Amino acid sequence: MAIEENIPIISSNLASILELSKGQLLASLETLGQPKYRAEQLWRAIYREGRTSFEDMTNLSKDLRGVLSQNYSIGNAITVLSKQSADASTDKILFKLPDGELIETVLMRYEADGHRRGRKTVCVSTQAGCALGCTFCATGQQGFRRNLTTGEITEQVLTMERLARSEDEKEIEAGTRSRGELQGVTNVVFMGMGEPLANYENMMEAIRILNDPKGIGIGARHITVSTVGLVPGIEKLATEDVQINLAVSLHAPDNETRSETMPVNKRYPIEQLIEACQYFVKKTNRRIFIEYVLLKGQNDTPLHASKLGRVLKDLLCHVNLIPVNPTGEGPYRRTEYREAQRFQSDLKKFNVPSTVRMEKGIDIDAGCGQLRDRALALEN
Ligand code: SAH
Ligand code: SF4
Repeated sequence: MAIEENIPIISSNLASILELSKGQLLASLETLGQPKYRAEQLWRAIYREGRTSFEDMTNLSKDLRGVLSQNYSIGNAITVLSKQSADASTDKILFKLPDGELIETVLMRYEADGHRRGRKTVCVSTQAGCALGCTFCATGQQGFRRNLTTGEITEQVLTMERLARSEDEKEIEAGTRSRGELQGVTNVVFMGMGEPLANYENMMEAIRILNDPKGIGIGARHITVSTVGLVPGIEKLATEDVQINLAVSLHAPDNETRSETMPVNKRYPIEQLIEACQYFVKKTNRRIFIEYVLLKGQNDTPLHASKLGRVLKDLLCHVNLIPVNPTGEGPYRRTEYREAQRFQSDLKKFNVPSTVRMEKGIDIDAGCGQLRDRALALEN
C-alpha cells in the first residue's frame, strides 16, 4: 500500500491548459504566432504522451516551451493520498484542488478472461460533493460544494492514464506484454463523486477531450455516464453526437420506496424516468444500464424484484445488482450474495437480464466518497 502523506502542498497559480478545448488551444497558439500544427503537437504531447511539463516537449521550440511554462500549468490537482487494494486490482487517489476541495478517482484493473481483453477503468468525479442527498451515499450526505471544471475532470483520467501506461511499460520491459498491447486506460465511468448531468457542459466537454483519437482516445462505447435520473439531462444526452453509454441509478421499483432513499424521485418520478430511458434507447439504439443498489430489507424483497421486473420488462436494459457498501453512520446493510441471486432469478422471470456485482476495492473504501471522509478526519 502506497500512502503519500504530509507532502508539501505547492499550488500553481497558473491557468491549467487542460481547461482548453482543442479549438481554444488553436486560438491561443495562434495569438502567439504559432502555426496550427503546433497546437496538434501540443495536444498530442499533453494527452497522448502524458507529458507533465512543457520543458519535456522537445518537439516544440525552446521559446514556445518557455512561453507555455510561464502562462500555463498542465493541471492543478495535487495528489494527497494514494492507496492500493490488497489484491492490487484497485488504486484510489485523493486529489486536492487549488481551492482546497477534495475529490477522489479510482482505477480498477480487470484481467483478461476468455471473452474480453484485460481493461483498466477509471472512475471519475464530476462535482465536489453532491446536492442530491441519496441517503445511502457518503457523497450525498456531505452536501454540494461545487462543479468541477472540464480540466479537473480530464486531469483525473490523465493522471490514471500515466499510471496505467507506466505499468504497461514495465510489463513490456519484463516481456509479459508486447508493445502493440500498450493500452493505458481503456474505459471511463462517471461514477465518482457528484451528479454528472448536473454539471452537463463541463462533463460533455471532458468527454469530447477524452474521446479525441489524437489524445487519450477513449472510444465513446467505453465511456459510461451514471445519473441519479435527471430527466432533462438524459433527454439531452440522447441527442449528442458522441454516443456514450448511460447508467441510471434506479435503486427502487416504485415511487414510495424510491422517494425514501432518493429525494430526486419527488422531482422526477419513476414513470417520467423510464419514459426518458425509452427515449434514450429509441434515439441511440443503445442498451441502458440500470443500477440497483441492494439495501437489506429496504428494496431487496421478492415483491420489490417482481415490481422491478414489471417496470423494466419493455426497456432495452441490463440491470447491475450491487450490494450496498455501507457508509460510516448509515443505517443500511448489505444484502447477502444468495439473496442477490434470488433477486436476479426473480427478474429473469420477466426476461430482464441482470448481473450481481461485487464491488471492487472494498478494502480501500472505493465505494463512494469514503476516502474523502477519512482524509478529512486525518486533517482534523
Ligand atoms: N450521481 C451519479 C453518479 C455517482 S454515484 C449517480 O447517482 O448515478 C455512482 C453510483 O454509486 C450510483 O449508482 C450510486 O447510487 C452508487 N452508490 C452510492 N452510494 C453507494 C453505496 N454506499 N454503496 C453502493 N453504491 C453506492
Ligand atoms: Fe449524488 Fe449519486 Fe451520491 Fe445520489 S448517489 S447523492 S446522485 S453522488
